[in-house]
Amino acid sequence: MSKQYETVIGLEVHVELATKTKIFCSCTTVFGGTPNTHTCPVCTALPGSLPVLNKQVVEYAMAVGLATNCEITPYSKFDRKNYFYPDNPQNYQISQLYLPICRNGGVEIETEGGKKVVGIHEIHMEEDAGKLIHDEWENASLVDFNRSGVPLIEIVSEPDMRSAEEVIAYLDKLRLIIQYLGASDCKLEEGSMRADVNLSIREQGAKEYGTRTEMKNLNSFKAIARAIEGERVRQIELLEEGKSVTQETRRWDDNKESSYAMRSKEDAQDYRYFPEPDLAPIAISPEWIAAVKARQPELRTEKLERYKTEYDIPEYDAKILTGTKKMAEVFEAATAICKKPKKVSNWLMVETLRLQKERNLDAEQIPFSPENLAKLVDLADEGTINSTVAKEVFEQMFDQNVDPESYVAEHGLKTVHDEGELRSIVEEVLANNPESVTDYKNGKEKAIGFLVGQTMKAMKGKANPGMVNQLLKELLAESN
Ligand SMILES: [Zn+2]
Repeated sequence: MSKQYETVIGLEVHVELATKTKIFCSCTTVFGGTPNTHTCPVCTALPGSLPVLNKQVVEYAMAVGLATNCEITPYSKFDRKNYFYPDNPQNYQISQLYLPICRNGGVEIETEGGKKVVGIHEIHMEEDAGKLIHDEWENASLVDFNRSGVPLIEIVSEPDMRSAEEVIAYLDKLRLIIQYLGASDCKLEEGSMRADVNLSIREQGAKEYGTRTEMKNLNSFKAIARAIEGERVRQIELLEEGKSVTQETRRWDDNKESSYAMRSKEDAQDYRYFPEPDLAPIAISPEWIAAVKARQPELRTEKLERYKTEYDIPEYDAKILTGTKKMAEVFEAATAICKKPKKVSNWLMVETLRLQKERNLDAEQIPFSPENLAKLVDLADEGTINSTVAKEVFEQMFDQNVDPESYVAEHGLKTVHDEGELRSIVEEVLANNPESVTDYKNGKEKAIGFLVGQTMKAMKGKANPGMVNQLLKELLAESN
């Protein structure tokens, strides 16, 4: 390849908001359910029904806008985006084109290449469509309107990203901000966060953008990275062959690792947008903005800094602990009870991550309560149980959320601190293993490891290994 190319990427991220009810009616937003039961005349667009805006949607959109450094539009409006599709009962979607609720923001991302700001062009509110089901009946498609009217925000970035790495850093940043705000759970796999990638190629140093394509159907960070690489290569090949890129929407097939054209990409005028006449404009006062801002919880970046200073946790560890809202919550709640941040952090970073991986759980799934983790930390820290037993109890706690104190009591797992009891067992072990005793006396220091092991076995793991070691040394020295 003779020419040097630059990849230019912008994202449109749709996020399903965590409201209890839909954006323009009081139907539940609960996922799933028997098809067409979470519906009413509004979200199935029966004649004469009128939308009523859900205030919580506006407040979530404002909160996300404020946390991503956007300006909040004081006078915002809804518009109709007209298109026909069977999952869209109105034949238009209520969205925002002319006066979106948030504009001109940006978030800072960090990659190997350093820090940079990715601009946010706008955030607008809109309603989700229903869902088509194609495979259940032969020669027929079914439609389920349960999702129709679920509130979405669409976060439109500036074309500021240059690589898959930057795209993933940006999405991760958005995900954490929105999760910490409680505005959405942002699960790509379940569709509560969806990213469409706009990508174009231009020669290095060129001022003009190339023709872009939009890729849809990306439901994991890995799929996004693969789709970006695939599309980058496809566009460069076209340009190298002297052909041009067509502006179109493409669907990425992650199994085949290739994309295919869905339709030519529409421009705004294709949708015949016009102001939504059934909804009043939204006036947002500075007082309302201040009230939403005042309710903003501590976000990830601030939390990370606080963990370093307040709990003396290293940067790397603090990043993992704050990597999901759930883990940060468990960390803080358990630490508040036992006051041992480093030990709590250790159980979360080592054993919790290990079991989540083994059990195929995602990062948000921490099945035990912070109270139980704090109890376990105390039991291990006070020497009531040794580290081997603690790991066993932890696994029980992870899988069954057992109370560590009762579990240890019921299963007789307390470490034996009674020296008399321990001494008689050690004596027995020495009597039963004369060869190891001789080896040790002949200078084979390692023989003591075997004897410790035998004693622990005889004690069913409930001894304090340090104490066993100490006693063995004493008794071996005495028997000289
Ligand atoms: Zn409804």
